[in-house]
Amino acid sequence: MNRKNIHNRHDSHCGGGDSFNCKVCNHLVVSHGAGSLHRNHCPNCLSSLHLDNEPGDRSADCGGIMEAIGVWVKNGGEWAIIHRCKRCGELSTNRIAADDNPLKLMSVALRPLSAPPFPLDSLRLTVDSL
Ligand SMILES: [Zn+2]
Ligand SMILES: [Zn+2]
Repeated sequence: MNRKNIHNRHDSHCGGGDSFNCKVCNHLVVSHGAGSLHRNHCPNCLSSLHLDNEPGDRSADCGGIMEAIGVWVKNGGEWAIIHRCKRCGELSTNRIAADDNPLKLMSVALRPLSAPPFPLDSLRLTVDSL
């Protein structure tokens, strides 16, 4: 088992005291305040690190930055963030936390609408022809 990534993290095997500085925006991320057991992304910029294969298991050796690339609305209206690892391309989803930055969530959710892959004029022509 490769444990080289362990030494620069606080030992959290007793649970609870898992805090770290976000590698992307340097925001201090603390586990309490998230409203869930596993604080796994930064509430300020929504980025995460590729540390888990299953949520909270810390068994991934990659350590790459997981970028929030989209929002997924689950049955019942709960939002989840879709993360993609910049290093290995792994995709994962994470429930949003109570203190996630709502403006950042909205900007991630609206990003595809701000850059559609086709000219909006052609969309209007399609609508007119209905
Ligand atoms: Zn951050
Ligand atoms: Zn990765």
